[in-house]
Amino acid sequence: MSDFTVSLQAAERFIKENDRFLVVNHVNPDGDATGSLLAMGWLLRQLGKQVTLVNEGPTPEKFMFLPGASDILDASKADVQKHDVVITCDCADKARVGQIADWFAEGCQLLNIDHHPTNDGYGTVNLVRSEAAATAEVLYDFIQAMKLPVSKETAVCLYTGLLTDTGGFRYSNTTSHVMGIASSLLSTGVEPGKVAERVLETITKPYLALLTRVLPTIEFSESGQVASMAVSLSDMLETGAADEDTEGLVNYGRNVEGVEVGILYKQKAENQVKVSLRSRERVDVSAVAKSLGGGGHVRAAGCTIHGTIEEAKRILSQKLREAFQKGEKS
Ligand code: 5GP
Ligand code: MN
Repeated sequence: MSDFTVSLQAAERFIKENDRFLVVNHVNPDGDATGSLLAMGWLLRQLGKQVTLVNEGPTPEKFMFLPGASDILDASKADVQKHDVVITCDCADKARVGQIADWFAEGCQLLNIDHHPTNDGYGTVNLVRSEAAATAEVLYDFIQAMKLPVSKETAVCLYTGLLTDTGGFRYSNTTSHVMGIASSLLSTGVEPGKVAERVLETITKPYLALLTRVLPTIEFSESGQVASMAVSLSDMLETGAADEDTEGLVNYGRNVEGVEVGILYKQKAENQVKVSLRSRERVDVSAVAKSLGGGGHVRAAGCTIHGTIEEAKRILSQKLREAFQKGEKS
């Protein structure tokens, strides 16, 4: 029996043996985090369980069309409710849940469902498959293993996770298994054009305003192999951009011909910078991020640096120089 099959069975017991669940995902949730959280909610309710779904902040506007999204609590506005049984979706480490950690009772039982190679197995039960394109893929396999039907509500949430984490079924994580799942989700009545229109095509006006400020900040280094851009606190304030409006900006740098690594430095506070890293085919950016206390995937990762944007740039340029040197040797 494979390790993953053993994990599937442990996860099934975890769900069957408990009645009341807190389901959470990571700070600044993306389509996979939100889709998985909601799909987990639908799955648990289908089994007659009590469920509380919570995000650290508001659910991004572009995912509010997902069935059940309006039921997700915003931890920044709700009173803390302590829970003994917790499920985390799409979180590589416990710190990724942010302030929602306050909702975890001491010694709580925790089911960790994820697909990040940097996942550190922090759960009581860990359902983690790093080859999976999305947590939504892991969750779909889990539902299949439990021999449960997939409702249209669950399907649209899972489809959104697959669609966003594969960049619209374009990244190298788009396997035949992913396409097989997508096909079976569509057969429940999910409308792919509508989902793509909402989560991939539509941009907000603040996003556009931010883009016009961010593009001129582009800098190339390592002989044109690294392209970095920066967003300051004032850029966010003056354009009225929300956190979700910075998603995807990093790809403009990464997509320039000859560039191997794209970086976005996003100032979160006077002395705090969120760094997003994307690579094309050689550099393992998850290793770079991990060495700075973050994590992620080989081609998409992130970390937070305590310091100014200039300090973050210095730290990253040193790390990337080392990463390129390693790449040249191997
Ligand atoms: P993004 O740059 O879009 O925020 O994140 C890219 C990928 O890296 C996502 O899979 C995300 O979950 C992961 N990631 C981003 N920041 C962090 C971090 O601080 N810690 C960990 N463990 N993963 C991160
Ligand atoms: Mn994911």
